[in-house]
Amino acid sequence: MVALPREGDSAAVRQVIGVLDLQGDVREHVAALRDIGVASRLVKQVCDLDGLAGLILPGGESTTLSMLLESTGLFDPIAALLAGGFPVLGTCAGLVLLASEVLDGRPDQRSFGALSVVVRRNGFGRQVASFETELRFGEGPVMPAVFIRAPMVVRVGPEVEVLATIDHPGCVGPSPVLVRQGRVLASAFHPELTPDRRVHQMLAAMSLRPHRGLAIL
Ligand code: GLN
Repeated sequence: MVALPREGDSAAVRQVIGVLDLQGDVREHVAALRDIGVASRLVKQVCDLDGLAGLILPGGESTTLSMLLESTGLFDPIAALLAGGFPVLGTCAGLVLLASEVLDGRPDQRSFGALSVVVRRNGFGRQVASFETELRFGEGPVMPAVFIRAPMVVRVGPEVEVLATIDHPGCVGPSPVLVRQGRVLASAFHPELTPDRRVHQMLAAMSLRPHRGLAIL
């Protein structure tokens, strides 16, 4: 049973955001949250989910993360949280984990299906094809964006808001790289690797509002 913060709870006021710590670039997300004054907790086992206001699924390798989520018993509790509207940010492999459909994945790879997108693993090419670019994001300044074996969003459902796109020779038309559906936010790039903190601030803002009715884990 994982207790979720309610309005007035000190945990909700303190707003602790979890960072899944099974594999991948965990420390960079912790540092990004620290930069914006948000406390974090490493999530390695089910009890670490207790009282969190939101969660980050970091980049890494989605096939490995999927396996470790199963072996730690974290997959189902996180899936239940997400099904109830729990705020989450998935970056790169984290985006793959959130997607409703994964192309070029391993047959036994699981994803939460919390985000209505079809993604192609390594859709922008392998490691050597990693690149940096700048995104237009809202009215503000351009945002630096690092892509490392990034997944490509090849289809988005009608409920998905596309917040930023890039033009890439491998894509027909602009490719969505930052998307949101309710309280599910996901990027194909690594916002934790550059100094711009707007993506983490969006997660923090989504996590401030209390979420209810999820005490069924
Ligand atoms: N290609 C990786 C995957 O499929 C993602 C890479 C990353 O997170 N930097 O999970």
